[in-house]
Amino acid sequence: MAHPTPGFDGIPAAAITHGACNSWWTGAERSHCAGCCRTFTSLKTFEAHRKGLRCNEPTDVGLVAREEAFGPLWGKPPMSEAERARLSALWARGVGDE
Ligand SMILES: [Zn+2]
Ligand SMILES: [Zn+2]
Repeated sequence: MAHPTPGFDGIPAAAITHGACNSWWTGAERSHCAGCCRTFTSLKTFEAHRKGLRCNEPTDVGLVAREEAFGPLWGKPPMSEAERARLSALWARGVGDE
């Protein structure tokens, strides 16, 4: 597969690419993991999947994928009130520390 080139092939000119996996994404706040080559909504959700200083399955740390033009983007799920309360307690404790 050819390397993605921002500005061509339907890829926005502002896209960010990772040559090792030919991924691309948009949004300066995104975090792409060089270990597992998943793309996260933010540094915070990236750090959540790095719980224990390794790459976890995003679903194991409470993240969900939403399909973007560039593929799955992992982030926090849309939440019900109860779920929001439960997860905000989890996030407040810092899911990165064990
Ligand atoms: Zn990873
Ligand atoms: Zn990558």
